[in-house]
Amino acid sequence: MSKVTVNEDVCKGCGLCVHACPKGVLFLSPDRLNAKGYSPAVVRFAEKCIGCAMCGMMCPDSAITVEKE
Ligand code: SF4
Ligand code: SF4
Repeated sequence: MSKVTVNEDVCKGCGLCVHACPKGVLFLSPDRLNAKGYSPAVVRFAEKCIGCAMCGMMCPDSAITVEKE
């Protein structure tokens, strides 16, 4: 299974990764702010990830790591 990880402290909550993901794995946190005051992207349906890395390519802050197994 592929594994996607978001470095929430680096994330600025732009949502580009959320829209880029074809599987609906990522969401912006509805109830949490990071140290910068943004709602970070969170991995909500990890089991759906296919490791395509679209999210990581879209992220302007390189906050996403995708590990393919
Ligand atoms: S690697 Fe692909 S499927 Fe997995 S979270 Fe990123 S965009 Fe979605
Ligand atoms: S694209 Fe990057 S900065 Fe934007 S919400 Fe996703 S993880 Fe955060």
